[in-house]
Amino acid sequence: MKYFGAHVSAAGGVENAPRNAAAIGATALALFTKNQRQWSAPALTPAQIDAFRKACAETGYAPEQILPHDTYLINLGHPEEEGLEKSRRAFEEEMARCQALGLDRLNFHPGSHLRKISEEESLDRIAASINRALERTRGVTAVIENTAGQGSNLGYSLGQLAYLIDRVEDKSRVGVCIDTCHAFAAGYDLSSPTACDRFFEEFDRIVGFRYLRGMHLNDALKPCGSRVDRHAPLGDGAIGWECFRYIARDSRFDGIPLILETPDESRWPAEIAALKAFVAEK
Ligand SMILES: [Zn+2]
Ligand SMILES: [Zn+2]
Repeated sequence: MKYFGAHVSAAGGVENAPRNAAAIGATALALFTKNQRQWSAPALTPAQIDAFRKACAETGYAPEQILPHDTYLINLGHPEEEGLEKSRRAFEEEMARCQALGLDRLNFHPGSHLRKISEEESLDRIAASINRALERTRGVTAVIENTAGQGSNLGYSLGQLAYLIDRVEDKSRVGVCIDTCHAFAAGYDLSSPTACDRFFEEFDRIVGFRYLRGMHLNDALKPCGSRVDRHAPLGDGAIGWECFRYIARDSRFDGIPLILETPDESRWPAEIAALKAFVAEK
């Protein structure tokens, strides 16, 4: 079963996200469980948790169809003690929010060295941050997203994702989310079925499909290897439709949330419909 959706708004309360997703024909969704521009948020009340669970039941979304995303402020590889501790606390708080909502995974960008420590030192901090968060929470998998490698962001290569997984003690609660735009911007071609074959074979060899807990389906505005993170609507960018048809028709991507983060929300219903049509082509 393929689950296609988008990163929908949770404005007015987390319980609104499932309804916003259902309204665009989505069978998956991503959301922020708190304001993504703030470090902290009041704890979820039992009433909010109940409303969210009820909304999911009514709209038919199970945890495996939902990919919550943490705030962009968090940097689990922060070079300075204060920023690192603040990030770790915020991340653990977000993991706990997911746990409270009955969700089983949290998608996050690994972190940045800010040109103050080496890539390796920063990666080691990220791994330690994940280990601490997993020790302090239950039932939620930390899902590392690959990045475009813009600025000093880490996680732009499959090798770096594998390096992190390697250092996580509880392998049952670590996973990855592959963002097609980020992979392409980081230098992995995805613009043809042959290129996709090559990339996903490499992914399986270096990281492993068993760790894949979600995907972000975005076309890329800039060329392959640009290191610039600019999403485009599906088919409008340098990746093109073939990559998304490939993913829709390949069973290795079954059973996980496949999420649009494309810039034009008004096109989400059509993008989701196109992806569903690819599956039906089989
Ligand atoms: Zn993404
Ligand atoms: Zn992006």
